[in-house]
Amino acid sequence: MNIIFSVILLIGALYFVWWGYKNLLRRESDPDEDGLEGVACHLCGKAYPREQVVTVEKKAGFENYFCGECISKLAADYNELVREAIAPPIFTEHVLNGDDGVVARYN
Ligand SMILES: [Zn+2]
Repeated sequence: MNIIFSVILLIGALYFVWWGYKNLLRRESDPDEDGLEGVACHLCGKAYPREQVVTVEKKAGFENYFCGECISKLAADYNELVREAIAPPIFTEHVLNGDDGVVARYN
């Protein structure tokens, strides 16, 4: 009978430790979430982690953020202008897939 009581007490103690650990983890992850709060893309307004957007400093203290999708869309729109012979072609376009080696030339 004493053993059963001890086991129950042990399980209770383990549960208490686990519960405290879980709360500790939650408390530690909260500042992380604040850090990952992210920024809104200046064009589409969607929220992204700060590391995933291109930051353009407008003037001191003011920054604009542009997400990859919008940059890609802008590039496509510019291509349209080049195709219509309105804007001059630019030969530094990169495929936005992380590959620096391949320069995509559309013209
Ligand atoms: Zn965007």
